[in-house]
Amino acid sequence: MFKHTFSDAQLLHWYVVGFIAVGLAAGILSGFFKARKIQPRGFKWKTFGQEALVAAITLTISGTAIGWTQKWLLAHGIIAFRHNAAPWWAIALEYTAYFLGFDTWFYSLHRWMHNEPIYRWVHKLHHRSTAPNLLTTLSVHPLESVINGGFIVIFVSLFHVHQAAYVLMAPTSMIMGPYVHSGYEFFPRWWNRSWATKWFITAAFHDQHHKYFTANFGGYTTIWDRICGTMRPRFEADFEKLKSRPVRPGKQPAEA
Ligand SMILES: [Zn+2]
Repeated sequence: MFKHTFSDAQLLHWYVVGFIAVGLAAGILSGFFKARKIQPRGFKWKTFGQEALVAAITLTISGTAIGWTQKWLLAHGIIAFRHNAAPWWAIALEYTAYFLGFDTWFYSLHRWMHNEPIYRWVHKLHHRSTAPNLLTTLSVHPLESVINGGFIVIFVSLFHVHQAAYVLMAPTSMIMGPYVHSGYEFFPRWWNRSWATKWFITAAFHDQHHKYFTANFGGYTTIWDRICGTMRPRFEADFEKLKSRPVRPGKQPAEA
């Protein structure tokens, strides 16, 4: 039987090739990410540590509260899913209702939480980071976490949606939350110029909410901010400026 074993020289050869490949990939990726960082000098370890603590406390409290409520509602038939096959447009309709419903819920309650004294008591905790990072997503007051996470529970209690629609709804906020707080903008320069895409928020939109506090309250879309006049007037111009940065690492200008 043929048995191949590597000699020490061959192993060393593969180590060198691997080392160069990893080095190259890291170099390319760091340039890729560096060019897309929204606030290049915004990250602070001290804030990150505080956010980690808040996130751990909040996850425990709101996770338990929402988890138990959902279990109780399921056990009593208040939450029930349709398991029958449904046409694609029915699933799309249910998903769109959830998407726009959450956006309206989030915009209204988020704007309300920017008023005193609720801002000081609850929402201020989430605004520790003026340059958000992934952990900022979870760094919220337990009450705010219950308010945000409670929407889907209320929605599926009121409307018995198809299971197929629910499996699309549930991960949406799990993807959107970390993305808008990531601190990186990946969408193209034309995003806010195109009529088809400008209604959907990107990371830079919510990043500016953390930086300036008084504008860009939307969760999934820019619709309510556009209707209510709360979109930052310079948002689109600043987005273009951000996307005009040179892609080569170490060459981008400081944040204006
Ligand atoms: Zn806010």
